[in-house]
Amino acid sequence: MLIGLDDTDSVFGMCTTYIGTLIIEAIKDIDINLIKEPPKLIRLNPNNPYKTRGNGAVSIRIVENVDSTTIKKIKSLSFDIIRNYSESGENTNPAIIFVEDNSINNEVEIFSERALHELLSIDEAVSILKRIGADYEFMGNGRGLIGSLASCGLRLEDFTYELIVYRNHYKRGKKAVSEKSAMEIEKKYSPRIFSSYDFINNRMMISPHSDCPILYGIRGESPEILLEAASIIDSEKPYKRNLFITNQGTDMHLQKKNIEEILPYSSVITEGIISKSPYTVLGGHVFFEISNGKEILCAAYEPTKGFRDIIRKLTKGDKIKAYGGVLETQYGLTLNLERIEILELSKIYKIEKPLCHICGNQMKSIGKDKGYRCKKCHTKNNEFSKIPISRDIELGLYEVPMCAKRHLSKPLVRYGRERVYEEERFKFDYTKFDIKFEGI
Ligand SMILES: [Zn+2]
Repeated sequence: MLIGLDDTDSVFGMCTTYIGTLIIEAIKDIDINLIKEPPKLIRLNPNNPYKTRGNGAVSIRIVENVDSTTIKKIKSLSFDIIRNYSESGENTNPAIIFVEDNSINNEVEIFSERALHELLSIDEAVSILKRIGADYEFMGNGRGLIGSLASCGLRLEDFTYELIVYRNHYKRGKKAVSEKSAMEIEKKYSPRIFSSYDFINNRMMISPHSDCPILYGIRGESPEILLEAASIIDSEKPYKRNLFITNQGTDMHLQKKNIEEILPYSSVITEGIISKSPYTVLGGHVFFEISNGKEILCAAYEPTKGFRDIIRKLTKGDKIKAYGGVLETQYGLTLNLERIEILELSKIYKIEKPLCHICGNQMKSIGKDKGYRCKKCHTKNNEFSKIPISRDIELGLYEVPMCAKRHLSKPLVRYGRERVYEEERFKFDYTKFDIKFEGI
């Protein structure tokens, strides 16, 4: 059986991964062997305007052939935890579902995949849940049912892990996590652990600033390496921890599209030639347009920091691949860049006035398209010199800095390494993993 939950982030700073952890802990207390694999933390459509903070849903797999009394117990304790800890407010609509493994059919898988790229309706989720005979409960408008179902049905080809360490959920205020530890992890474990410390912008990435119970989270390729790294993190006393299999850092949200096929709320990889050179607007946002016959506006917003300097070096005629989420803005359909690949750089020239071939003096323009004349000896000349200007940028991939990166975006350090650690991933035994924190 699979348990899916979503949207339990309350106004008081709850977090779906934390609620999931409390549920897992309670189930493990019944029998440690009921859950044999780490839960999944699934990031859904990052362009969803209804999303909660990280738009993450959680699913938990219970082993097969569990007696019906235990299943009843699991369901009722899970419902209780959801009810007790998630606050249904204006923007939170928590939900929990229970589905049999063999109910995950083609329809559920397609729905789950679409939850990464589209805005789905609550009605559609409910009708699928009814058709597959799932047990479910929700508060508010039921929006959480969409993510709950998607977290159970999404197939992961590529995946990463996140080890999340929590403080007690009653604790509020500034989190004490040493910045130095985050730097150390970045230096020592990158690329096997990614997005820990942004050295370019001096920002610690492992500890969220929001008032949620997450003390810190480290993301990487295998459970062992994360557990090893966590042991060097200096922080206030942790309360609980959990390990999640996630689709973070996998680019799972991106779909290859031609410009004319791009829809709002999707995330795309699209190719085009720059038809309007980059320009900076008030607030420091940089825009440009690419075209393949049809144009789309691309944006590198102020929070992307130094990435904008790369963008400003582009010019009309350059061929690029643009990666990012698409929203309908006041400027029309806008692609919010996460990454670009420069495929071709156009040649640009500086036009120089010719030198007089008689006296060597620099000639002056007579007027637009009328040629040049030497002031000294009045020689005329129609030819100008085209001097190529060297482009201060190279072909290749460029990404936004770590501090502006989306959870789902694949960091460049992961490129080509997706399968490198495959073997060591499966050595991990989740039944031996202790959620209660006794120091690691
Ligand atoms: Zn002359």
